[in-house]
This record gives sequence, C-alpha cells and structure tokens, in this order.
Amino acid sequence: MREYDVLVIGAGPGGSGAAKSAAENGLKTLCIDKKLVIGSPVECGEAVGMSLPKEFNIKIAPEAVNLKHDGTVFWANQNIKIDNYSEIWKSMSVNRHILDKTFAHEAVKSGAKLIVSAEFVDAKIEGNRVISVDIRHMNKKLKVKPKIVIAADGLNSKMAELLGRRKFKSIEIGKVAGYEMTNMKLAEPKKIQMFFEDMCGMGYGYIIPKSKTTANVGLGSLGIKETPWDVFDEFLEDHPIISPQVKDASIIEVKTGFAPISGPLSENVIGNTIFVGDAAGQNLSHVGEGAIPSQICGRLAGLISAQAIKNNKIEIINNYQKTIKETLGPLFNHCDKIREKIIETWTSEEIPAEKRYLIGTILVSEIVPPELGEFFENLIGLDEQTIITEVSKFLNKEKIKAKIMKN
Ligand SMILES: Cc1cc2nc3c(=O)[nH]c(=O)nc-3n(C[C@H](O)[C@H](O)[C@H](O)COP(=O)(O)OP(=O)(O)OC[C@H]3O[C@@H](n4cnc5c(N)ncnc54)[C@H](O)[C@@H]3O)c2cc1C
Repeated sequence: MREYDVLVIGAGPGGSGAAKSAAENGLKTLCIDKKLVIGSPVECGEAVGMSLPKEFNIKIAPEAVNLKHDGTVFWANQNIKIDNYSEIWKSMSVNRHILDKTFAHEAVKSGAKLIVSAEFVDAKIEGNRVISVDIRHMNKKLKVKPKIVIAADGLNSKMAELLGRRKFKSIEIGKVAGYEMTNMKLAEPKKIQMFFEDMCGMGYGYIIPKSKTTANVGLGSLGIKETPWDVFDEFLEDHPIISPQVKDASIIEVKTGFAPISGPLSENVIGNTIFVGDAAGQNLSHVGEGAIPSQICGRLAGLISAQAIKNNKIEIINNYQKTIKETLGPLFNHCDKIREKIIETWTSEEIPAEKRYLIGTILVSEIVPPELGEFFENLIGLDEQTIITEVSKFLNKEKIKAKIMKN
C-alpha cells in the first residue's frame, strides 16, 4: 500500500489546482482521474470571465483560448435586449480539452503524480476519517493510504456519498443540453448571447462564440424532472432569434452535463477530506460558471493541506471554509443573492410571466443589484417601455456600461 500526504480524486480544474498547490508546497501528492483523457468529453459551455484569472493569477495557456468576447447580450422574452459591455461581462471562450490538460500538466510539473483511467471505487473509513482508498486502474487494483483526501470528483462525488454528506437537491442541479456547432451565422460574433423566456423555463439558453462561425449553443434548466434534451432541438429550430443563426449549421460535438446551482456548500470538510469545485458547489451560482472558481478553490485546498501536514495537525484543514469566505466569499455571496432573487422572481405567482423573465434578465445581467428590492417591486407594475426608461435612467446615473433596448 503506497502512502501519500494527499490523494486528490478528480483531475478537472478543481483537482488539478489542488494537486498543483499541494505538490509545490512540498507534499507527496497523488491525483487520479477515471477518465481516459483529461478534459474529455467536454461538459461545459467553455465561457470564462476575464477578471478571476487575473485576480487570482491563474494562467490560461494561449493555446486554450479560442476567442475573447467584448461583452454579453441578454435577451428577455425575445424582444428586449440588454447589452452589457462592462468588465464583469467580458469573457473568453476556452477549449476545455486543452485547458484541463494544461492545468493537469502544471500539477505534474509541480511534482504531483497523476494517473488517468484510475477510478476511486471504495474507501476504508473510521469515524469520519478516510484511512485507505481503493482504486481501479486498467486491470489492476491499487490501494493508497493518504493523510488528507481532496475530493474534486464533481457533482456526484462518490466520496461525499461515502462520508454521508448531504446530496444536492433537484432544485440545486442545472441540467444542460448543448452542442458545439459550426457554419453558424452569428448575430453577435464577439459577444455571448443569453436567452430568458418561457421556452427556457427556469434556466437560460446560450450561444458562446468560439470563432466567427463556431459556437457552443445550449439550454440549461433548473430542477426539472425531464432533461432539456426533450425540448432542445425544437428550441433551436423554433426560436426566432436563434434559428436563423443555426439554420445552416452542423453539430460537431455534444457538450452536456449537470452543474450544481446551490451556492458553495458550507460542509466542505469532513474528517480528513476537503471537497472542492463542483463537489462543493463552488461556482458563480447565478450562471453556473465553475471552471476557474474550482481551480482557485482547489489551489486553496492544496495550500491548507500543506499547512496541516507541515504542522502535523490535520485539523487545520477545518479552516478551509474560512479561507474560502475570505477569498472568493464576497463574490460567491453576490452570485448567491442574484440567484436567490431570480428564483424568487421566476416562482412568484404575483408577477406576470413576461415580467418574471424581464426582471430575471435585469438581475442576471447584473445591471441592477438584487439588494434594490424596492426598485424591482416598482418595475412589476410598469409597462415594458417604462421599465426600459427607468432602467436606462439607472444605468446612466450609475455610469454602468450597458444598454437596455427593444429589439
Ligand atoms: C453543460 C455545462 C456547461 C457549463 N458551462 C460552463 C461555462 O461555460 N463556464 C464555466 O466556467 N463552467 C461551466 N460549467 C461548469 C464547469 O464545467 C464545472 O464547474 C467545472 O468543470 C468544475 O470543475 P471540477 O474540477 O470541480 O469538476 P469536473 O470538471 O467535473 O471534474 C471532476 C473530475 O473527477 C473525475 N471523477 C469523478 N468521479 C471519480 C472517481 N470515482 N474516480 C476518479 N475520478 C473521478 C471526473 O472524471 C472528472 O474529471 C458547465 C457545466 C456543464 C455541465
């Protein structure tokens, strides 16, 4: 049985970030992933905001970047458009096949050992401490004894299940249907487009350009029993703004999956295990953007593991939640407030359906903060044109680089 300071389960952005920082801080680190190829299949829309990588010094390899976006266009009810070209909505589209591999390379370069096609299948647990872990690798069985486990094994974390941590509720899971399409006629070739309306239900449609003619096109919905796949092809064919853009396009890749939309879970340390990334709901929960937040939270988990091992005091990892609060906490809270207000709006019986989507779009586009409850309440009683006028006045007053207009 091999002994390690840290076993990282999963080599997505969260796991690779954890393995990198654990190894570069001197820990004997093993990272495993059940995938045959890191980063594939892609379960992502591949949009990454510009600001977080800069702020947290996360290097995105140039070869992983497809296109930089000048902003984001939000469509409410197909007829009102919010164009947000402020810094927070500038982004890039990345290639996760490449990005995840470059993150894994960085972990290995820092000294971590990585094994792919290595599935964590079981663990010996005493109390709430993981003593040893069983791994299936090709036709072999491996057993490792880690001092600390970093579970970066995604939304359906097996380690969370074995340690009895609560599962994500159905309303906390975004189900996403998506394609990469080529030969598109993009209406906004340098901007992300997001769609909010009855056809999307509690969720949104998106077009994320990767080149002049190629984009990720998807539909994600919250808490539904059926998957968006039941309506996705119809959505692409019938949507008056989307269908002309995809009419002559072909699908070159399917990019689908499930994303936690819960906000970060507070129970992210159990015994000697730290949960990171999707396994801990660590994303921008109003939109589900998780790749870079997971890498950041992974790095923080590796760092705190190093402090625990060096001080010979595993309990130090209990400070992980505090560390997250002090770093990404304000951003996570901001996103959670938006998500909560959107869900409250979408599920309100007092607000007429078309207003629900319009107010939801104003919230998600971050042009009016969710804290301005009275502002939003006033909007409910106004007609569309007056809403546009009131919101435009607010944008001017606050000098926000965005426009709201009728199509
Ligand atoms: C369709 C879709 C669109 C999305 N769009 C975006 C977007 O545009 N931008 C963005 O930033 N985020 C997006 N997200 C979210 C983003 O993909 C995730 O937040 C991010 O990948 C989380 O990283 P992670 O490392 O925590 O988990 P993952 O990337 O899910 O990695 C977990 C890893 O653990 C491995 N694993 C799981 N179980 C085991 C096991 N038992 N043994 C060994 N290995 C195991 C898996 O193989 C996997 O490689 C999207 C998600 C979906 C589903």
